[in-house]
Formats: sequence, structure tokens, C-alpha cells
Amino acid sequence: MSEESVDATASRTGPVGRLAPSPTGLLHIGHARSFLLAWWSVRARDGRIVLRLEDLDAGRVKPGMADGCLRDLEWLGLDWDGPVIVQSNRAAEHEAALARLVEEGRAYPCVCTRKEIEEARSAPHAGDVGSRYPGTCRGRFSSLEEAEAKTGRSPALRFQLPNDLGPVPFEDAFTGRHSADVASDVGDFPVARKTGEAAYQLAVVVDDALDGVTEVLRGDDLLPSTAQQLLLQEALDLPSPTWIHVPLVVDEGSRRLAKRSDALSLAALREQGIDPRALTTWIARSAGMAPEGPAEPADLVPSFALAAIPPSPAVFGPTQRAALAAT
Ligand code: GLU
Repeated sequence: MSEESVDATASRTGPVGRLAPSPTGLLHIGHARSFLLAWWSVRARDGRIVLRLEDLDAGRVKPGMADGCLRDLEWLGLDWDGPVIVQSNRAAEHEAALARLVEEGRAYPCVCTRKEIEEARSAPHAGDVGSRYPGTCRGRFSSLEEAEAKTGRSPALRFQLPNDLGPVPFEDAFTGRHSADVASDVGDFPVARKTGEAAYQLAVVVDDALDGVTEVLRGDDLLPSTAQQLLLQEALDLPSPTWIHVPLVVDEGSRRLAKRSDALSLAALREQGIDPRALTTWIARSAGMAPEGPAEPADLVPSFALAAIPPSPAVFGPTQRAALAAT
């Protein structure tokens, strides 16, 4: 980082937001939109942006994707404050949080396989378990070591929901008031994988706290995770950020873009010589802004307004694609 950017970072007094790509596939237009909105929202109030590579799911991380994410963000014209944070470097902090949960009886070892969970759910006496974890391993082992010794399997860890847990209410600055029934919808959820590595819900909560994040703006596919993250923040005495969940980008058939749709990846657009300012302009218009011509993200900071974003998904189909290429 140059001295100039250190100074700029130090003097920013607004919220702290983050861009948290997972290097598991190519970033596409949907990611670009969520990242731009997160960036505008924070920069519009003179806030700081943390860039964190969420590379914990080692089985799904693809070589070269982390560098690709950075290149895509730079191509778009986004910047961030401070060094890039790499989630897998935070193992010690994640372990400390997991150890605390275990020590306080808030997490327990679980040796269930996916198949066993499915079978337990469909057993005749299971009752109406729905898609929640049926609690098979709750109270079954006194320690990770015992779970491993008794079953010969490496245990994962699940967060033990309080027995009297009612609906978990939370406020989203874009979508309003929510109430999630984690006990009946999800049940005791994983906080560590059987490899010992932190699971997403745990890692994101610990990292957001370490990074001083005060505002989480992300796609609304993550709305169902919010209550689980709130419960972990409460259990670990961590502050909760402002939550903002924005609609996703969908194709002309209302299907959400997936990392598989490589044709709409930022890497493909870049290779085709698409002007990133044309994409920024489309994203700005899709978010209720009215840029006059091709614009850089920084030019549009003063025009951003959360309330102007339409509540329905943004459609990016062949027409939008053709318009982008013609700009
Ligand atoms: N890394 C996650 C993803 O790419 C985002 C996590 C979050 O925003 O909380 O889906």
C-alpha cells in the first residue's frame, strides 16, 4: 500500500464494509453488482472497505481463482483499504472461538454423515423434522476425542441452539424486519467441518468482528444465514453489523446466475474487450441510479441511495448482454 492510501484509510470515518468473494469459481455479473453496491454504500458515507478472500472450503477452492477475484475487482475499478485478508490465515482465531463454544457447552461433536441425516429425517418416528438437523449427536459425546474414539470418525462441530429458542428477530436496512425460526428450519448447525476447519457461519462471524466490519451488504441468497450468524455473535459476545440484503441478478428465465455460467463471468467479459464502465453503468441503472454515460464506480458514489434499489431481482439476459457489447 502506498503512503497516500494509508493516509486515506486512516482518515475515513464512516462505516466499515467488506467484499468477501469465495475463490471457488469465476465471479460473474451478480457478484459484480453486489460488490459495487457494497462499495458504493460504504464509500457514500466515507467508509472503509475490507477485501477478504473466503478460501476456507479447501475442497471447492480452485487454483488461480483468488488472483482472478482480485483482477476482476480491479478491472471493475473497485479498491479497498489495507491488505487483502485471507480467511485461511485465521485458523488460530477460528479455533479459539470454536474452543470457547465447546467449553461453554454451546457446541458439540457430530459424526453424522449427510446420508445418515437424510435417513434420520425420513425415519417413521422422526416426526416433522423437515430439513432441520434432527439432533442425533446432541448430548451423545463428552468430547471430540470421545466421539472419535467411539466411532472411528472425525467429528464435525455443531452449534447447540438454546432449548427455549424462539424466533430470532432482526432488522435488514433494505428488506425490513425479519423473524427466522432457526430451531425448526435449520436446527443445530455446523460450526466446524470434520477436518477441524471452521464452517462458513463461524468463520464469517469471527472475521467480520476481527475486521471491524459494521455493515454487511450482500446478495439476498444469504438472508437465511443471518439469524445463525446473529446467534453466534451473541454466543461469542461479538457485535452485530447492519445487515443489508440486496436482490440477485437473474437471467431472462428468472434463474439466478451461477458460477457455472462462465459466459457471464467477469473474466469472459474482460477477455471480450467489454468496457468495465459499461457494466458499472448497467449496474448503476439496475440500482435506480441515472448515470449519463459510461462511468467509473468512483464517479457514481454521490448518486448511490439504498432506497432507490428496486426490490425485485435485476434481469441480465441477451438484450442486456448485446447492449453491453455495443457500448
Ligand atoms: N464468501 C461468500 C460468498 O461468496 C459471501 C459471504 C458473506 O457475504 O457473508 O458467497
